[in-house]
Amino acid sequence: MIDLRSDTVTKPTEAMRQAAFDAPVGDDVYEEDPTVKKLESATAEMLGKEAALFVTSGTQGNQIAVLTHCRPGQEVILESNAHLFVYEGASMSAFAGVQPRTIAGNHGAMDPDDVRAAIRPEDIHFPETGLICLENTHNKAGGKVVPLENMQKIYEVARQHRIPVHLDGARLFNASVASGVSLKRYAEQTDTVQVCLSKGLGAPMGSMIAGSAEFIQRARKWRKRLGGGLRQVGMVAAPGMVALTEMVDRLAEDHIHARTLADGLGRVKGLAIEEDVETNIILVNVEQTGHDATSFLSELEKEGIKAVKFGPHTVRFVTHYGVSGTDIRTVIEKMEARFG
Ligand SMILES: *Cc1c(COP(=O)(O)O)cnc(C)c1O
Repeated sequence: MIDLRSDTVTKPTEAMRQAAFDAPVGDDVYEEDPTVKKLESATAEMLGKEAALFVTSGTQGNQIAVLTHCRPGQEVILESNAHLFVYEGASMSAFAGVQPRTIAGNHGAMDPDDVRAAIRPEDIHFPETGLICLENTHNKAGGKVVPLENMQKIYEVARQHRIPVHLDGARLFNASVASGVSLKRYAEQTDTVQVCLSKGLGAPMGSMIAGSAEFIQRARKWRKRLGGGLRQVGMVAAPGMVALTEMVDRLAEDHIHARTLADGLGRVKGLAIEEDVETNIILVNVEQTGHDATSFLSELEKEGIKAVKFGPHTVRFVTHYGVSGTDIRTVIEKMEARFG
């Protein structure tokens, strides 16, 4: 099976398994796990923030950020197709008691003027704007890199209004490798950031959130409230450290594979690439094959290939280190043979 559903299907490398085996551990709720502490300070350093916190998942990291930044009754500005809005079960409303205010973006990037216009003036009727959330790379937009200048402009607007900014950087490593802009430069445009260790970097689990020391102290309490205070968690933090040190640069290979796959699929009759490929995500429109996304996916399965539905006629393919150049050629050949 060639599994292109997501970069979350990656399995831990040998080095990660060995690191888990060798990790010195302690009780992390007492802040006594040396491996976690090492991962947290390495992440803070990489992102240019004062402190970082290991959390169980990207969703938990984003929600801890919303909970720590906001009070109930506030409003959060974010892009209409943001992961925080589409894929997190309305947890910002369910847990933080805030309402989302969405802005349609252009390839995942919100217009700074639209953000400014969406900030609520003081009025007894209105919610207060409590937070602005960004996403880079933008998943629903097809792994698009949100330009640094766009983030800078939004941060300027946010600072003028004293509103914090959180970056959902589940795939910030992909953005950085694709654009050549450092993680620090991106993270400078936000107060807090969440990065996933378990996507393209291949760690078995976990995300990091980073921000000021004061923010991380309060976030640690929210993590505990959510049941995310873990014990000898160095066992999974150690693979996370391998992810950060050994797995970032090789994302460039996933990006090359994604482009090769998009070029190949783009030549298959009935398939259309919906968005220019910048990182490791390819959105393919299958309507002209006479299939909808669901029936197309079952055709793919018969050929030993997995992808996911992303819209009525849209299928998403994601490249990752579990997929080789040979696999990419196989997928293209099978699609050509099947659809011409
Ligand atoms: C995957 C993802 C998340 C959530 O990460 P989980 O670890 O799956 O909870 C958040 N934001 C974006 C953009 C993602 O792609």
